Amino acid sequence: MAKVENTQENFDICMEYCKPCLTYSDIEGEGLFCARGKSKSPRDKKGCNCGACFIQRKHECKGIYYCITGPCE
Ligand code: SF4
Ligand code: SF4
Repeated sequence: MAKVENTQENFDICMEYCKPCLTYSDIEGEGLFCARGKSKSPRDKKGCNCGACFIQRKHECKGIYYCITGPCE
């Protein structure tokens, strides 16, 4: 398992999954929680798209809901 790099490229990929997610905080600029850590204003769990995300699979990240639980280490 490799740490997810905090890059603009990864953020852009993340937004394809986190942005439409019902759990997303909707705080401008927030995202890539698996690298940057949890949201400043986490919401209740209403579903998580991380399981479908290429970045999660590539880094063999365990779990989901990184916006609530913190980064994939
Ligand atoms: S695993 Fe989740 S938080 Fe990480 S880039 Fe993918 S959608 Fe975003
Ligand atoms: S980390 Fe998961 S639950 Fe949180 S906004 Fe992204 S896809 Fe949704």
